Amino acid sequence: MRGLDLTRADGRCGIKSLLAEIERLSPGAILANRWLVYTECDLCELRIRADVKRIARERGSGFVLWGRATTCRRMGCPGRVTFWVRPHGASGDVAMT
Ligand SMILES: [Zn+2]
Repeated sequence: MRGLDLTRADGRCGIKSLLAEIERLSPGAILANRWLVYTECDLCELRIRADVKRIARERGSGFVLWGRATTCRRMGCPGRVTFWVRPHGASGDVAMT
């Protein structure tokens, strides 16, 4: 997979196609792009940097993070965490939901 060209992501149409590309991201693609991925709890707001290398090793490099939610790592917190990705050059983080 080639790196995403974010200079093309102008306007609604560009952002839409960018999001469509991010939707297909697997740990292997994220590692290749060296993007930061983190998880954030919707309840206690605990943020943890996701270990994408470990995910790729355990689930396979084609595993899709999009739409995944896991339980919070904080002891006693019943919250759910969402994956976020921060592509280079993007103005904000993108929730992988
Ligand atoms: Zn939590």
